[in-house]
Amino acid sequence: MLSKQMEKAVNNRSAIREIFEYGINLGKEIGYENVFDFSLGNPATPAPKKFDETIVKLEQTMDPLKLHGYTDNAGIMDVRAAVAENLNKRFGTDFEAMSIIMTVGAGGAINTVLKAVLDPEDEVIVFAPYFSEYDNYVNNFYGKLVKIEPNFPTFQPNLDALKKTITPKTKAVLINTPNNPSGVVYSEESIKGLAEVLREKQNEYGHEIYLISDEPYRELLYDGAKHYFISKYYENTFVCYSFSKSLSLPGERIGYIAVPKIMKDWQHVALAIKTATRILGFVNAPALMQMAVKECLEEQSDITYYAHNRQILLDGLTKCGFTCTKPEGAFYLFLKSPIADDVAFCETAKKYNLMLVNGSSFGCPGYVRISYCVATDKIERSMEKFALLAKEYNL
Ligand code: PLP
Repeated sequence: MLSKQMEKAVNNRSAIREIFEYGINLGKEIGYENVFDFSLGNPATPAPKKFDETIVKLEQTMDPLKLHGYTDNAGIMDVRAAVAENLNKRFGTDFEAMSIIMTVGAGGAINTVLKAVLDPEDEVIVFAPYFSEYDNYVNNFYGKLVKIEPNFPTFQPNLDALKKTITPKTKAVLINTPNNPSGVVYSEESIKGLAEVLREKQNEYGHEIYLISDEPYRELLYDGAKHYFISKYYENTFVCYSFSKSLSLPGERIGYIAVPKIMKDWQHVALAIKTATRILGFVNAPALMQMAVKECLEEQSDITYYAHNRQILLDGLTKCGFTCTKPEGAFYLFLKSPIADDVAFCETAKKYNLMLVNGSSFGCPGYVRISYCVATDKIERSMEKFALLAKEYNL
């Protein structure tokens, strides 16, 4: 017999996976080239050449026992030092090797932080729209995910609502900028305001309220948008980073957690995180990948590919009469459903072989997510389908 929690998770199927599988089956019938699948967040541009060259070089030159062996639970010391130095250079921070814990992607990073800080029934606040896996992540540790309604139409965090939502049980606020699914980048004003509210509430309740910053899209920015490095604004921040999107390595499972030295008892906290990595069974981030990303900290996948797709989609959809949230980051576009029922709208879109993900699954009914990490030619050819879809709603 499965656990009650897993039974629930199994039955609660991911809307993204469901539409993706629908597209696969449809492709078998009508040909994959005729399916316009905008459901997944799988990078569409390959890892930089330097990454492949580094893997070859490591395989040829490194002692295989080291290359494929266990590492320290927190990662290889000179990799951690290189990550710290890279962050300090780019963002003016003061991390050191011990402040960095290498992880199994951002998913591994967030789960490790939650393991380290959550007691059962502790509350974690998220701003809708939010990455739907957060529900599962917080459930893993018997915490309670508390959702703040979307702040239409900007999707910046609603700080008045945050003030009212924090309780003595609040252990953390989990944010994601650039945001999946909205593509919105949180402004400096939002981050300053967020830090102010958290400090005020920490003082009121007499314990830390952590900010967990989920940053897999940190480098995917357009039109001069800027990422404000969160731990510079708020001391009790865990930065959870992933190379999945910036280096197009989602299958390699590599990322890190950065613990700022201004966090109270930061060394003890970092030790707890390292211990949590081991206890969760990750043991350490993949050794080969740690060594490879160390050599690629200055690299990035070709972001102009996404920028180009984004522009075609934005112009085309607007021309069709749809209302879009202009994405400043990540590789998602959030489109306002022309009817209140976003699930029904996604069903109708299927008629035109368009695979879109309903906003309800991100805590944001009335919107749909379009992933533009797909071939440019697919986006171009999908426009006539979107035009037909728009016609159905008299746009
Ligand atoms: N957080 C967000 C917002 C994501 O979109 C994703 C993946 O799509 C993750 C975390 C998980 O990333 P990783 O592949 O690094 O575990």
